[in-house]
Amino acid sequence: MTTSSDTDPTGQVVPWRHLLHEIAETAFDEHRTAAAVAEILRSLGLDVATGIGGTGVVGTLDRGRSGRTIALRADLDGLPIHERTGLPYASRHDGSMHACGHDGHMAMVLGAAAALAADAAADSGADGIVRFVFQPAEEPGRGAEAMIADGLLDRFPIDAIFGLHNIPGLPAGRLHTRSGAIMAGEDNFTITVTGRGGHASTPHLVVDPLVIGAQIVLALQTVVARSVDPIASAVLSCTNLTTDGARNAIPTTVRITGDTRNFDPAVSDLLEGRIREIARHTALAHGGSAEVTYTREFGTTVNDPEMTAVAAHAAHRTVGDRRCEADTPPIMGSEDFGRYADRVPANFTLIGNGAGGEVGGVPLHSHDYTFNDAILPIGVAYYRNVVHRMLAE
Ligand SMILES: [Zn+2]
Ligand SMILES: [Zn+2]
Repeated sequence: MTTSSDTDPTGQVVPWRHLLHEIAETAFDEHRTAAAVAEILRSLGLDVATGIGGTGVVGTLDRGRSGRTIALRADLDGLPIHERTGLPYASRHDGSMHACGHDGHMAMVLGAAAALAADAAADSGADGIVRFVFQPAEEPGRGAEAMIADGLLDRFPIDAIFGLHNIPGLPAGRLHTRSGAIMAGEDNFTITVTGRGGHASTPHLVVDPLVIGAQIVLALQTVVARSVDPIASAVLSCTNLTTDGARNAIPTTVRITGDTRNFDPAVSDLLEGRIREIARHTALAHGGSAEVTYTREFGTTVNDPEMTAVAAHAAHRTVGDRRCEADTPPIMGSEDFGRYADRVPANFTLIGNGAGGEVGGVPLHSHDYTFNDAILPIGVAYYRNVVHRMLAE
């Protein structure tokens, strides 16, 4: 049986979350946040390394002789959003807000560090090394790769890595995971259509890129409907269209930006190929030209079956069988965690932040989103159970 003194021996997990919330910082600028995290880890007696991949922090708890190593990962960054929660601990950094709950993810991993350090002091529970990884810049999908490029996995070898993300709309404290792809990959594209602008009254003397751009946007709607295998999943969204025209002048250039999601690199390649073909040939058919840039922003997060069995066991121990799910449907959102899962056996699990209308039910990335403090002890207990299972004596 887990008690609150097991999961929060310092009694500081909620205050840590509020402190981190107040000092929200955006991607790669998380200097004060990283310093606060490092200070807490040191106060728990852990070895701490800082400045990995920018502001990344790794705390290490070495508690035995087995040599087995497990990592728990949290994310340091907030979003460039002006907070409107009215909370007493609202962000003091105007224009930066923890609107994705990364403050809560940090507090859960710090709480796990405190609980596991207390277990180690009492010489109970596990034999091995636990690393607490705090990465920068999850939101733009660059921080995990930055830490890996800076030698994270060479300097701090790990056998497995685990992470959590809070999910508004899922009842508070539920733990859902699945083997295989759990979060989609994200690609972005920009199509630049070039025509020849001119007077709005002389369409016969111009090549109108706006008409071409409009046809491209509509033709792109056929890619998922007609080219992607219906059993696979994909999204293709055009998200912005700008021109250099004026009310009475036909533009020369149209720029279309967009975002695609998928669970399979082959589908990602198919989307890229169809976007390039449709843009190029539609423009050519009307006497214009089109250039396409296509970038891969987030890889798919793919859960390892064995690590998912560990996660499911820990979830079951933490919240009981009626509040966990080991084969939840994947979601179309994207996560930087996939970069670790590409290299190390990994599991990513979703923790309910509160159903709609309840505390924690406001969607992620909203200016009035709130992380639900009630789920902090559940996240801490879950991580502790994962580590105990992985590093069982
Ligand atoms: Zn986010
Ligand atoms: Zn997030």
